[in-house]
Amino acid sequence: MLEEEYQLEYFKNQGFIRKICKSCGSAFWTRDSSREDCGDAPCVTYTFIGSPVFTPHTIDEMREAFLSFFEKNGHTRIERYPVVARWRDDIYLTIASIADFQPFVTAGIVPPPANPLTISQPC
Ligand SMILES: [Zn+2]
Repeated sequence: MLEEEYQLEYFKNQGFIRKICKSCGSAFWTRDSSREDCGDAPCVTYTFIGSPVFTPHTIDEMREAFLSFFEKNGHTRIERYPVVARWRDDIYLTIASIADFQPFVTAGIVPPPANPLTISQPC
């Protein structure tokens, strides 16, 4: 891709600048004009290990926050599907939420249960 193709108005409007990493030479976006590295390993060491960004949550709290966020933004919450993908003959377990909708919804044979929707699918 040409460098000018990365010059997107959205990033500029959001205050981002495009720079070149002094360590690896890769281009990266940042809002920190003094930043000289891309922020990815191995250019910098991980700083979040032992210093999590988020306060601890239980799995149920995280699941509820996720589902509630999308509900507030117009998505319909639907119940999770079984982990054993008994409607599939090519996989034993639900490997991701997309498996819930394969093959019938993704093939257009039946409509999705809601659109847009949110689901927290154990897999
Ligand atoms: Zn780098």
